[in-house]
Amino acid sequence: MYNDLKDKSYGELLEIVSSHQQKPLCAQYLFTFIHQKDATEIDAVTPLPKAFRQQLTSEGFVISSIDLLEQHDDPDGTIKFVFDLGDGAKIESVRLKDGDRNTLCISTQAGCRMGCKFCATGQLKFQRDLTAAEIVDQVYHAETICGRISNLVYMGMGEPLDNFENVMRSIELLNDKRGRNIGIRHITISTCGLPEEITQLAARQIRPRLAVSLHAPNDAIRSKLMRVGNKFPLEDIVNALRDYQRETGKRITIEYCTIDGVNDKIEHAKALLKRLKPLKINVNLIELNPFPGCRYKSSPTRQIREFAQILTQSGIETIIRFKRGRNIKAACGQLGATWLEEQ
Ligand code: SF4
Repeated sequence: MYNDLKDKSYGELLEIVSSHQQKPLCAQYLFTFIHQKDATEIDAVTPLPKAFRQQLTSEGFVISSIDLLEQHDDPDGTIKFVFDLGDGAKIESVRLKDGDRNTLCISTQAGCRMGCKFCATGQLKFQRDLTAAEIVDQVYHAETICGRISNLVYMGMGEPLDNFENVMRSIELLNDKRGRNIGIRHITISTCGLPEEITQLAARQIRPRLAVSLHAPNDAIRSKLMRVGNKFPLEDIVNALRDYQRETGKRITIEYCTIDGVNDKIEHAKALLKRLKPLKINVNLIELNPFPGCRYKSSPTRQIREFAQILTQSGIETIIRFKRGRNIKAACGQLGATWLEEQ
């Protein structure tokens, strides 16, 4: 929304304030009240002169807010939030608790254009990109319920790099010391691997951690599982990641969803190692989480452990992520599964 003050960077707020002949300090009040004190009305920014508040409102400026529709609690501590974006679009976010870590998995699009076959979101109709304000608001709502979010993963509904500018803007807002001040090392973007956007990310000043959903050791298997596999060969992705690493020096997380009989054999683990040799990586093996109509099955636990062993024996730090939040359809790949059932 053009006149949404929640969507504006600090620099843009300064411009608005100065174009209204107000002091720069007013931009600070606006930013802090919106991004630290959760103000959702201009009138709530009380340090601003009353006449200026009235002027902003009469000119159509607003502070947007998404609506929390539902909250689902899993006995394992996972919480799923369902949000209404106000135009018929809905999204989900998931809070995962792990010791002191309070992680929120947030959405960047209503639906997804990437069409991965093992993911419920990929089967939904793509509706639209989220604004930066709608992305950060998921965090603000979650924090009122679960306390301070320590880690953020852009891994919910949608492909973050397909909504590049809004995602980067949201990270800048969340990272800003005048607002939530979430450290950049605690923010991860998870992409299905868009080479051009990975290169763009490397060129940015603010660079979050990067995770790449590979899910296959070769193009033949990848294109079967992910529509995007037909567009970008693995070689292009690995080259983009190598350049990214050269530029940033950052380790990359590889996400690999193990699917029974498709990509979970020992030979696949060995091929994966060979393919990723030029990179400094760690691997998350994710157990497939079924959704209605999904044609794939999760791999047996023994198979996942054997796969992991091949990687760890080669010195690759590997974590197996077993199901979390499955009872409330909040596990990886299940977001939007309830709406799929309704369809
Ligand atoms: S796995 Fe990610 S990129 Fe693929 S369809 Fe699901 S949300 Fe989109």
